[in-house]
Amino acid sequence: MRKLILAAAAAAFLAVPAAAQEPPPPKLLVVIAVDQFSADLFDEYRPQFTGGLARLAQGTVFHNGYQAHANTETCPGHSTILTGDHPARTGIVGNSWIDQSVQRPDKVIYCAEDESAPGSDHKHYKLSPAHLRVPTLGELMKARWPASRDVAVAGKDRAAVMMSGDRPDQLWYWDGRQFVTDLAAAPPPSIAATNAAVARMIAAPSAALQSPPFCSARAQAIPVEGHAPVGAGNFARSAGDAQAFEISPEFDAAILAAAAGLTRDLRLGQGDAPDVLSIGLSATDYVGHDYGTEGQEMCLNLFELDRELGDFLSYLDSTGVDYAVALTADHGGQDLPERLRLHGVPDAQRVDPALAASAVGKSIGAKLGLSGLVLLGDVSGDMYVDRSLSPADRARVLDSAVRFYRAQPQVAAVFTRDELEQTPIPATTPDKWSLIERARASFDPQRSGDFVVLLKEHVTPIGHVTTSVATHGSPWDYDRRVPILFWRSGFRGATVNAPVDTVDIMPTLAALIELPLAPGSVDGHCLEGTPAFCPQR
Ligand SMILES: [Zn+2]
Repeated sequence: MRKLILAAAAAAFLAVPAAAQEPPPPKLLVVIAVDQFSADLFDEYRPQFTGGLARLAQGTVFHNGYQAHANTETCPGHSTILTGDHPARTGIVGNSWIDQSVQRPDKVIYCAEDESAPGSDHKHYKLSPAHLRVPTLGELMKARWPASRDVAVAGKDRAAVMMSGDRPDQLWYWDGRQFVTDLAAAPPPSIAATNAAVARMIAAPSAALQSPPFCSARAQAIPVEGHAPVGAGNFARSAGDAQAFEISPEFDAAILAAAAGLTRDLRLGQGDAPDVLSIGLSATDYVGHDYGTEGQEMCLNLFELDRELGDFLSYLDSTGVDYAVALTADHGGQDLPERLRLHGVPDAQRVDPALAASAVGKSIGAKLGLSGLVLLGDVSGDMYVDRSLSPADRARVLDSAVRFYRAQPQVAAVFTRDELEQTPIPATTPDKWSLIERARASFDPQRSGDFVVLLKEHVTPIGHVTTSVATHGSPWDYDRRVPILFWRSGFRGATVNAPVDTVDIMPTLAALIELPLAPGSVDGHCLEGTPAFCPQR
């Protein structure tokens, strides 16, 4: 008997070194989504990063991450990150969609609204996570560990809602003037202090940012018809200009300040259970839309973002909390066609405004003798046939519209609802997905259109420029490919070329905090080579 105990003790002793290799799970997950941060931008600027992005890049870098679906907009992109599911499963098919059965005059539905709220429309709405069909990581953490906190702060309300999900403990977003919430929970004291500090920032003028040589080398004014030239801006801002503040790196600095304040006030990572803090950094998207991606403006923005993230991580270090970070983007982006043509992309062009659903609907209506809207939608993406028409007329409109769009030189593909319903969700890596497979991952039978129009590569879906000069939303890799970084103190990772998917982030983080997921319950898979120890598949 004594021999047996000794043997057991020896076995236990021998097991110690192996067990010691696995550190305990972190107490705080910090998940950062940089809006419109394409993998192209990450790769281009990576050698210049010295701050927070350089530190995170010492972890595991998947620079071929994919927002795999076709409709690469903000709301669907954020919905994939902490649910582990593609938009076909999250139900978030776009920033908005059309629901002709809704009992209000405005049939456009915002992704993060409750459209049953009296007097609402898609621009004046009651914020709600109700459209998100699946739970977030924060919700699952709270179900397993009731003491877990699920906290979100973002520039955009939809970013905060889609990452935190149902019943977060705190949810803050920018309303154009200050950080606000719709939750009844008492505001932590730091929010008022952050809002006061940001108000002082906006009230003062902001001097032009000093451009490092790698940014000034990109300063070239590009003419854009109907718009001031872009490319040589430096974020000089006059006192009180809150809109210019939003379209500048100052905005993300404010969001990170709010995140730091929430971390301190709520003592995130210092309770009995792990917490999750989701941060939506929106400035990069606004800079990309207003100035494109390859001028001095984006360079300065990323230079500042890198520095601000460094400061934020230093703050987290100072709390003594054992935290882990995942950083990614909701989608990529493409530069404006005027500069792309100068940079060796001769087929870069703006969409023909004649492709707009309203124009096409009008001409089909005239041809078929139909009145009403006939066709609803934008210039590409989901298109809806007017439900007030008879079923026979709807079939004629669908047939005419699909034939019209398929004949257009700027259109890559048109897929009908029937075709998408017959397409299985692909099992291959997202770099191999065909166009219809990308569109399938964006398809929800209740919310998607009767058909979807996908423009050719390098066709920007902005015809006449009014405000935005550049955008995203296409099924092409400049909009789909995003960086995915995992970092934890004491962990050194590698740069991985293998393609992965943003739906892999949630199961990876779940493994990191030892939160079991039911097999097959999410689209994504735990990623090896990260700080997480993936469960055996
Ligand atoms: Zn955007």
